[in-house]
Amino acid sequence: MSKIKINKIRCKGCSLCVVCCPKKNLKLEDKLNEAGIFTAVVVDENNCTGCGFCFIMCPDTCIEIEG
Ligand code: SF4
Ligand code: SF4
Repeated sequence: MSKIKINKIRCKGCSLCVVCCPKKNLKLEDKLNEAGIFTAVVVDENNCTGCGFCFIMCPDTCIEIEG
């Protein structure tokens, strides 16, 4: 299993990572952050295969994959 890290400062809440994850392992936060954005968040850290789709799709290079 891999872990991903999302840079919450750079994330603009576009949802591209959410729709591309084959494991449906990403969603947008329920609450707005200080900048008025619903940022992306991991649903279940143990459910990530490390496929890299979210990393490739993010237009703002907010996502890092570990392991
Ligand atoms: S690396 Fe793949 S499985 Fe993991 S969160 Fe990103 S798209 Fe989903
Ligand atoms: S693709 Fe990038 S900018 Fe868009 S919601 Fe996901 S992490 Fe945020």
